[in-house]
Order: sequence, then C-alpha cells, then structure tokens
Amino acid sequence: MGLLYLGTPLTWEDAKQYADHVRHHGITQFLNIWDRLKDKTGDELLWGDEIEYMVISFDDEKKNAKLSLRQTEILAKLSAIVSDICSECDSSIAVPTFHPEYGRYMLESTPGSPYTGSISDLLIVEQNMRYRRSLARRHLQPNEVPLTFTSFPRLGSPGQFTEPYHDPCDAVSSHSLFLPEEITNPHARFPTLTANIRRRRGSKVAINLPIYFDEKTPRPFVDPTIPWDRTIYPEDPEAKNGAALSDHIYLDAMGFGMGCCCLQLTFQACNVAEARRLYDALIPVGPILLALTAASPIWRGYLADVDCRWNVIAGSVDDRTEEERGLKPLVNDRYKIPKSRYDSVDLYISQSWMNRPEYNDNHLPIDEGIYDRLKAHGIDDLLSKHVAHLFIRDPLVVFSETIDQDDETSNDHFENIQSTNWQTLRFKPPPPNSSIGWRVEFRSMEVQITDYENAAFAVFVVLLSRAILCFNINFYIPISKVDENMERAQERAAVKSRRFFFRKDVFTDGTPFSSRSSSPMNKEKKLLNHFPTPPPPENGSHRKSVEEEYEEMTMNEIMNGKGEDFPGLVGLAAAYLDTLDIDPDELVKLQGYLDLVRRRANGSLLTAATWMRNFVRSHPKYAKDSVVSQEVNYDLMVAVDEIERGVRKAPEFLPEDYSGGNRDAGSIRV
Ligand code: ADP
Ligand code: MG
Ligand code: MG
Ligand code: MG
Ligand code: MG
Ligand code: MG
Repeated sequence: MGLLYLGTPLTWEDAKQYADHVRHHGITQFLNIWDRLKDKTGDELLWGDEIEYMVISFDDEKKNAKLSLRQTEILAKLSAIVSDICSECDSSIAVPTFHPEYGRYMLESTPGSPYTGSISDLLIVEQNMRYRRSLARRHLQPNEVPLTFTSFPRLGSPGQFTEPYHDPCDAVSSHSLFLPEEITNPHARFPTLTANIRRRRGSKVAINLPIYFDEKTPRPFVDPTIPWDRTIYPEDPEAKNGAALSDHIYLDAMGFGMGCCCLQLTFQACNVAEARRLYDALIPVGPILLALTAASPIWRGYLADVDCRWNVIAGSVDDRTEEERGLKPLVNDRYKIPKSRYDSVDLYISQSWMNRPEYNDNHLPIDEGIYDRLKAHGIDDLLSKHVAHLFIRDPLVVFSETIDQDDETSNDHFENIQSTNWQTLRFKPPPPNSSIGWRVEFRSMEVQITDYENAAFAVFVVLLSRAILCFNINFYIPISKVDENMERAQERAAVKSRRFFFRKDVFTDGTPFSSRSSSPMNKEKKLLNHFPTPPPPENGSHRKSVEEEYEEMTMNEIMNGKGEDFPGLVGLAAAYLDTLDIDPDELVKLQGYLDLVRRRANGSLLTAATWMRNFVRSHPKYAKDSVVSQEVNYDLMVAVDEIERGVRKAPEFLPEDYSGGNRDAGSIRV
C-alpha cells in the first residue's frame, strides 16, 4: 500500500479541492523522471516477491480462530529483531523487511534486498520465504500463527472474529454493518482512504458474491445475518433498499477486499522498452495465474460460488460516483468509467510491432488535458494514454503537510495516483534519486498456504518472464478477451471446468517449436535481462486477422501445451531452463516447482480453493447449508497451519514429498 506519511489527512470535501493540483504536479514529477531516465539502460534483472500474512489467534477451548489485531506491536517487535539481526549477521541471507498492510491483522514481508538473476538466488527463494515466516512466527504469542491465507472465512460474521472483540457499531470510517473500525490499520492513511472512498462514491461500497447453493441452502437465500434494520449510520438502510441481493453474500466495506492477502512479484527490466514489453506479455497471464492460485472460496461465513478475491477487492475500493458508473447522466463528473480503480489492465503499452492497435479494444477514458501535455512533451501515444488513463482518478488521501512539493526531487503526487490504481500489472517508473530502474509488478496471484507453493509460483513467473524475452514470445490477444478471462478465472473450479482465450501461435520468428534446437544458448548460471525485440518476420505471418490468432483453450492446454507447436506456459519456462547451465540437483529443485504448477493445471493437484471447499463440505459439523461456522472455520485454520508445518498431509493439493515449512516451529503451538 503506497507510502505512509506522517501527517494530517484531509477529509474528502477538503481533499477534492486539491485533486487538480495533485494531478498537475504528479504529471510534472513523472515528466521530470521521464526526462532524466527514459534512456536509462543496462539495468540487470533484479526481482522480489511480496507475501502477505494474516495473524490468526487460536482459542482452542472455545474452538475459535480469530484475527489478531496486534499488528502495531508485532511490527514494532519485528523491526527491532530485524535490526538486531542486521548488526549481528554476516549478511549471508538478506535480512527481510516487514511492512504494515490495510488490515490490522495483516503483515507483509519482502526479501531484504531484491534477488539478482543468478540461479543461486532462484534456489534460495523458498528458504527466504520460510525464514521470513519463521521470524514472524517466533515473535508472536504462543496461540498466534501467521497464515498465508487469502481471505479470512469469517471476517464480518456474527460472533467474535477478532481478538480482542470489537462491535461493528463503531465503524466510523466505513459505516459497515459487519466490520468494526479496529479491523483497519490505525495509520491515518487507511481510515481516510476508507472514508473518502465512501464519501466520493456517495454510498457504501457494495459487493454481492453469488452464494454456493448446497443441498440444504434455503432458496431463495436471504441472509439472516445482515442487520437489516440497524439505524446507526445514514447508510444503514442501503442493504434493504437494494444494495444487498438475495442469493448472494453481501459485503459493504473496503476491509473485505483490502483485508485479503496476495502474492506479488516485481521485476526490473533492462530499460523502459523492455519493461513495456514485459508488462504487455504478462497481461494475458494475469487471469490464468489468478485461476491457478485460486484460494478464497469462503466469505463472511458462507461458501461462495467463486474461488477468488479479485472482484471483491475491485468492489471494495470502487469510489466511482453514480454518474461515473453510468447510472445517471454526466452532470457533475467528467467521465463514464467502466472499471473500479482496482481492476484488470486496460491498455497494452509496448511500441513493439507485435502490439497491433486492434488489441487495445477496451473503451479507455483518459484525461485529455494530461494526454495533450504528455504528447506535447514528446511522449508517445501509448504511454501518454496509459498515464492519462491512470490520471482520470482523484487522489483519495491528501496530507496537508505535503501539498507543496519539489517536483524535481519528489514523486509523491505521481505515486498518490499511481499507487491507488491497483491493476493486474503495474508499470513502475524509477523513483527519483535512486539507482532503481524501470520495473513491472505482477499482481493477480492469490497467496498460497505454503512457502513451497509461493516459491513455486514465483520461480515459475520469473522463468516465464525470461522465456518471454529470450524467445520473443507473443501473447497478445484483444484486451477485452483478457477481461473476459478475468471473470472466468474467478468462477468456482475454473481450472477444471472453464476454457480461456489464449493465443495459438506464440512464436514470432517463424520457427516451429518442434523443430527448435534445444542447445543451450546461455552458458552462464544467470537469468538474463535485455533481449532486444527483433524486427517483424518478412513472411508477413503476423498479418492474420486478430480473431484467427486466438482460441479458447483448457487450463491444461494453456499451461502444459497443445499440439506440437504450442508448448504451454510451463513448457516455455522449462525450455528457458534448458538453455541454462545448471547442476543436475539444482535443476531437480527448479523442475519440482514447475511440476507443481503443471499439476495444478492438469487437475492432478487441486487448487487451494477447491481443497478448502471440500474440507468444509466433508466436515462432520457442516450442515450442507453453505454456512461455515465458527467451529468449521477453527478446524480449517488448524488444518491449514498443520499442512504448512508438514504435520498434516494434503496429497490432494501438495506433492507427496512436501515435508513442511517450519519443522522447528512444530512445538510452538500444540
Ligand atoms: P510495493 O508495495 O510498492 O509494490 P514493495 O516495496 O512492498 O513494493 O515490494 C517491492 C518488491 O520489489 C520487493 O520484493 C523488493 O525486493 C523488490 N525490489 C526492490 N528493488 C527492486 C528493483 N530495483 N527491481 C526489482 N525489484 C525490486
Ligand atoms: Mg501488500
Ligand atoms: Mg506497497
Ligand atoms: Mg508491498
Ligand atoms: Mg506490491
Ligand atoms: Mg472486473
């Protein structure tokens, strides 16, 4: 979540007076960065992950698993520990960092410094993730555990779901019927974001997830746990006045979305052109990996008919007014805006010949004044549109102390808008006054229960990103089809039952995959950056009609290949591995990661979401009515913790030989 300033946040009424000021100076700051760094090149591959945890507090007597709201104390302790380690250690393992997140029960960790392109770094990713988890784990209370769990099943349910208990009647920022104020990180930024989204929108956010109808779920399903007649906040009647749909699970606050945990990866490119190429290539991969990492089938105490968090977060920060959402004619607002500020990418931005204009087929509202300014400055059409599209949004949090900035040295106003556009990919310009280069962040994945899986998906995406650049892979399909895939990806059991749009011929140089030589190209033990885009092939094969270029494929086909000439995404990652000079035992480890991804895609291993749904449905206390009770949730959380530690086997969704993440932590929680 963006930077945390100390300061006085403005209310929405005050903040909106500064919207044009923030946008104007944000663009000046971007242009200053552009002028200085547009030609920066030769940056090596650096990359890193971000993992989010929720701290669970177990009450074994009452059989309740709750969210521990001790984030502030825990982070203070962890940062003291980390600086102790720093002063003692031999720096053989980069000391990790822990960051706050939206939920007051959440932690985020990153490796202390980014990984390089060396193979040895690829081999320590899992160890580093485990180390971070065990550091966190060792400094919690005996009944607390940091779980990498995407959405807490009983967040906002009746009864006690936080430790300590707080009543939702005090939700002064969100006005939620379900979530107390204390669910939110107390730093001024977070309550202000929450309140300003509500105020800008003109109502509470409203998310309706289809309920999973089980044998005994009442039809129609009208949620008995909604306090329909509460009269504390002016928005309380929204639920009964149409915001809460029957047959759905209704969610009414930012915390339901931003309180989810995910797995993100950031890559540094060699230069801006390579960053734009990588950004584009990963856009169609976003929904595919969302479906494969699906891990959130339970919401507010009910089984949902979806498996992923994405639409919940999109809805949870949807600050668009009724005019912007197209419900009323435009009178006060400037644009009709098709999507929330948290949603899938709307525009491919590479200037490569591969990026045909037809692929950018989404309606794209832009700030025309900003577009003209960027163009007049010499920035090309696509990048100007990209920035002018991000900048249709208002800044939501403005601190009175930082309204006036030095645009030569600061990027705060730019980041204010940039970092509250939460899309599947983020194109990250270098910050001023640093050696950091142009980066791309991959943001769609749900966090996995074990670090083995998190490392596997991270390593897979790293290898895929190198394969894309090295083999000049072309994944372009119309961006509207990527959006369609995003919707499909979230459906229940999408991996098994859905097809997704994908490009048929991903090679651009005319050589069929089957006749490629497998001789290693890169004898170095290093993943490379910088593969210049080759010119278009002369035979004109790129001139097929766009509709002929893609088809609907199964997840198994997309990941594991179809026919002789489409090796699938895992096949591409494996082919890139083949070009490297790697020791056999190292290769076995990396191939193990690819194998996990392969098996999730071919259905021989379940997604976490399917495993959880099965766990609930086969629990002896489950009444087949979609309700995930306190006790079922407790047993699920215990099982997840035991699986992570390797105490409980889960061969349905992990490889047989998975032996647990923190064996040393086995005795911590009995
Ligand atoms: P944000 O929350 O803004 O997305 P974080 O700082 O939490 O970003 O995480 C950024 C990730 O990028 C970390 O894993 C970090 O190791 C990694 N990283 C840091 N510097 C670079 C760099 N120059 N290139 C690529 N990745 C980097
Ligand atoms: Mg985060
Ligand atoms: Mg952040
Ligand atoms: Mg972060
Ligand atoms: Mg991030
Ligand atoms: Mg959407």
